[in-house]
Amino acid sequence: MLIDSHAHLNFEAFNHDLDEVIGRVRQRPMKVINVGSQLSTSRRAVELAEQFDCLSAAVGIHPIHLAGCRRDTKETAASDDQAVNDLERAFKQIITLAGQPQVVAIGETGLDYFQLVDDPVTIRARQREYFLRHLALAQAKQLPVIFHCRGQADNPLAAYDEMLDVLAQQSIRGVIHCFGADWPVAEKFLALGFYLGFTGIITFGKKAADLELVAKNTPLDRILIETDCPYLAPEPHRGQRNEPIYVELVARKIAELKNLPVSQVIEQTGNNALNLFNIAR
Ligand SMILES: [Zn+2]
Repeated sequence: MLIDSHAHLNFEAFNHDLDEVIGRVRQRPMKVINVGSQLSTSRRAVELAEQFDCLSAAVGIHPIHLAGCRRDTKETAASDDQAVNDLERAFKQIITLAGQPQVVAIGETGLDYFQLVDDPVTIRARQREYFLRHLALAQAKQLPVIFHCRGQADNPLAAYDEMLDVLAQQSIRGVIHCFGADWPVAEKFLALGFYLGFTGIITFGKKAADLELVAKNTPLDRILIETDCPYLAPEPHRGQRNEPIYVELVARKIAELKNLPVSQVIEQTGNNALNLFNIAR
């Protein structure tokens, strides 16, 4: 089954035509995991999953919403919980939401050092603290984790190394969403039992050469496919708003790289997602 393992239909970019977008999902045998980025979008992901059988939810606070990073207007016009004073309260509500039956994972959570503003030392410490808190929540609820990792432009791998250090000491299941490092780093995550998530970036040609190698080398039973919509639309929709049905283009690219039938890639990555998130078939 085609599964978009990481979407944001809970973002404002879909407000004007959400019914049509979900309608296109419902026309096929397909499931979508909507991932929370802060309290409001986590709530919205749960609401949508309550409404539609083909949708499930993940809840969490993305590292860029722990204050001190740039944010994006496609997500929400008003960021509701990034004030440091409100974080504690927001996280308590995430804990409550995590008990809802539609919630299949904790996330997205992790480390994002890409565009830190003002005080990087404090911000990194806070990201690490909340990352650990999300991991503890996942343990408590027996849920897998959706990891986000992004390093600085001039040192992109350091954040991955830091994440690996943390995860090597945990026994936790999950997916490194939108995996963006090289094969040696990928191997380390695979050795720890994690899945790797691939987005439309893999269709971007030359720019994606490293990633193509990672996808080629990663066993199919450890790959999840995702859109990360509204972002990262695959070719030939690059630059437009992305949506869940385009995840098939990611499957096609992986099939091409691995020289396998597309149907096998869709079937296996779908089973991987159903297993990881413990979703009924
Ligand atoms: Zn995301």
